[in-house]
Amino acid sequence: MKSNFLYLAFLFFAVFFSSCSEEQIEEKDINESRIEQEQTKKTYCTVDEIQKIALKKNPQLKSIIQQSNDKIAEIINSDEFKKSKNNIITIPVVFNIIKPIKESSWQDDWHTIERSQIIGQLNTLNRFFTQKGPRINNLPNQFAKLRGNPRIKFVLKKIQRTTVKKSWRVFNDEMKDSATDGIDAFKPNKYVNIWVCNIHYAGSAYKPGMAPSKKYDGILIDYRYFGINPRNLSDYNQGKTLVHEMGHYFNLDHPFLGSCGSGDDDHVADTPKMTEPNPRRGEFLCEGIPNRNTCGSLDMTMNLMSYAHDECLTIFTKGQVTRMRATLAPGGPRAGMIE
Ligand SMILES: [Zn+2]
Repeated sequence: MKSNFLYLAFLFFAVFFSSCSEEQIEEKDINESRIEQEQTKKTYCTVDEIQKIALKKNPQLKSIIQQSNDKIAEIINSDEFKKSKNNIITIPVVFNIIKPIKESSWQDDWHTIERSQIIGQLNTLNRFFTQKGPRINNLPNQFAKLRGNPRIKFVLKKIQRTTVKKSWRVFNDEMKDSATDGIDAFKPNKYVNIWVCNIHYAGSAYKPGMAPSKKYDGILIDYRYFGINPRNLSDYNQGKTLVHEMGHYFNLDHPFLGSCGSGDDDHVADTPKMTEPNPRRGEFLCEGIPNRNTCGSLDMTMNLMSYAHDECLTIFTKGQVTRMRATLAPGGPRAGMIE
């Protein structure tokens, strides 16, 4: 059974990445009718694509994002924020579990997310957001000193389930609405809502202010990437996809945003510039990754906001930690969530 599953997982990735072309992805004028095609070519996290679409629909969003970043900078420089940097922040979470339809040959017939898997995922979130538990020691010396501790602790508030089996191939918010066979968010102003379902890519999240409606605010994760389960996709079975998406939810960008240029970047000073990992060159793999250099300095490929297989990912930098905590601080865009 296991080897059968591994073969199917291989087939899954072969189909995903077989027609991937960087030029096509970069130069394409992305619109909603194309997003399914985009997802099947470069499908790990869709946060950048969502932002591109949202900016195209609403050009004013650019200045709103700028204002939000100015506010974050103001918070970071305030005495109140500096005094609170060692406080533990407690964040309540809600898991919304939607059983996927068995719909293709590569999909195993396992659909139930047990409570133990949810608790395991919660423990993994807490391990990386409080820096407790074993660390992966793959950090070059120059990066080890940059490791930050978010001091953010997650507590389980609620698990919601639906009996309707459903899957989604195109990015949308239908799984967040009971009128379209999804599950309605539970108090999304106060709790991080996480939808676990079949979405045909690893995950996605709305950064603060990016959700088209508050009821859709939260995180999406495909069930094959969720928690610690031997039946997950073998390179994504350590629960780190949700750690990555939680980083987005707290306002982090990919460290490769803006590539080597001086323009748009991730608004964090201590993440080195790098280009987006290219799965065709095997850059999602761990082998050789610590030596990758794409912008004149060592790439921080082990950053939890980069793309790599779970076993490589290990670090939030101090700058990323500061940005997340400022987002949750009084006056920040997610200030109402602290319990
Ligand atoms: Zn991402």
